Amino acid sequence: MHRRQIIKGLAASSLFVGAGGIVAPLWAANDNNVDIIVIGAGLAGLTSARYLKEQGYKVLVLEARERVGGRIRTVNSHGINAEAGGLQIGQGYGMMRTYAQQLGLPLVSLGNYAKQNTFVINGQRISAAEWPTHPQNKLLGDDKKTLPSSLYYKALGQGPKYALPSDWTSAKYAPLDISLKEYFQQQNISVEALRLMEANVNASSLQELSAADALYRLSLAKIGGRGAQKIQGGNSRFTQAMADSVGDAVHTNKVVSHIINAAKTVRVRCEDGSEYSAKRCIITTPFSALKEVALNSDISVQKRRAIKEAVYTPVTQVHFAVNQQADVSMLEATNLWTDNTLGRVFSQVDQSGSLTYLTSWVNGQQAKALDKLPANQAISIVNNALETYYPGLKGKTEVVHHQSWANERFSKGAYIQFSPGQVQTHVPHMASVEGKLHFAGEHTEFMYSGMESAIISGLRAAQEISERL
Ligand SMILES: Cc1cc2nc3c(=O)[nH]c(=O)nc-3n(C[C@H](O)[C@H](O)[C@H](O)COP(=O)(O)OP(=O)(O)OC[C@H]3O[C@@H](n4cnc5c(N)ncnc54)[C@H](O)[C@@H]3O)c2cc1C
Repeated sequence: MHRRQIIKGLAASSLFVGAGGIVAPLWAANDNNVDIIVIGAGLAGLTSARYLKEQGYKVLVLEARERVGGRIRTVNSHGINAEAGGLQIGQGYGMMRTYAQQLGLPLVSLGNYAKQNTFVINGQRISAAEWPTHPQNKLLGDDKKTLPSSLYYKALGQGPKYALPSDWTSAKYAPLDISLKEYFQQQNISVEALRLMEANVNASSLQELSAADALYRLSLAKIGGRGAQKIQGGNSRFTQAMADSVGDAVHTNKVVSHIINAAKTVRVRCEDGSEYSAKRCIITTPFSALKEVALNSDISVQKRRAIKEAVYTPVTQVHFAVNQQADVSMLEATNLWTDNTLGRVFSQVDQSGSLTYLTSWVNGQQAKALDKLPANQAISIVNNALETYYPGLKGKTEVVHHQSWANERFSKGAYIQFSPGQVQTHVPHMASVEGKLHFAGEHTEFMYSGMESAIISGLRAAQEISERL
């Protein structure tokens, strides 16, 4: 029997299993030897590769998708560069801004988003001015004056504040590592306020998110700074330029299926049967996707648990272009915040203030419900809801993009969230080095947020390696 057949046979007999399992013996050495293998060509992986290549190392980047960028994805359509993934580059994003300058990519304002907000509660459109006295406002006491979109931040803002975001893992704050729902109930938040917060919570649900995590994200948001921007022409230009600067080291359509952390080398196998070895390896895949990769047993119990139990936030979007052939000047340009399956709708306008583009952005339980349906059905539900609350749009929109981050095999969600108990048990192990394996990605870096954290993590992992090689 040939070696490949043996490996296939072992896979079929389930000896090759996910992060929790055993991995078959090493395959023979091959010619695909490099200094460092980087798994994933998102922001973290590209940053590591760029840094290490500049240091003179032989680097190979293996990317599963046919494109680079990972959770950065610009949708270019109808003259709009809409972002389906990472959008806002905060003023505090020092490294991302430095790279953008080096790559000759100017930053611009986020776009002409509509200023006005309208609410859809229990099926009724309600303006911000009407909300405090509207019959559908079932909130109690002082909350009655609070807009549905502000309830979450108001309730969190009344909680404890960490001196530094990194305090969230300290033993002192362990009592906060409970479900956010339970924490809010302890604060006597009303059932109706909880219902409205649940509608668009940036997590799977209030129940599945640790209060310690929610408070940490709030303190991080302040570091991001005001006046967020994006890359002119779309953020995908940034990841494409980063990939170009790394050159032919980036290989797409390479789905990594096995990683062996061996005594002298790291060995990596892809689904297409190709095999590579290196002195060290940086894994930047989200832990949600890493669950599917067979890792050998030389990995700490804590890390293995963090991978196995990782939870990622579902985010589903439908992008609509507004048909400019029709007279759009009378169509209302307003952002919607709904308590239903439409989630939030962000409207973009042209210079004259006419509606040009809408993005329905659905979180949490409502996103999970849409994700269970075939894409065309999910789109149709969102489209029908859109036409219900924007009647003037009937027949005047075109669906240009549907994005379910939870259904994408190589993301399985938009960003990591920590469930009750996980802040204390998992966070300290997310970035730990395991033998010759280094870990980067937004889920491993906690002093920054989003895209900046991915970049900083990529630099950190690259530096860990250059200190060792
Ligand atoms: C809807 C949405 C909105 C966001 N908004 C913002 C925002 O406004 N501001 C902000 O700062 N951040 C935002 N973010 C977060 C930001 O986009 C991410 O933090 C960042 O892009 C993550 O980069 P990364 O390199 O850690 O991971 P990724 O970009 O996910 O890169 C990991 C790469 O690994 C690859 N991969 C996975 N499995 C395998 C495998 N088996 N083999 C080989 N390759 C594999 C993936 O294809 C991917 O390319 C947003 C994200 C989403 C989804």
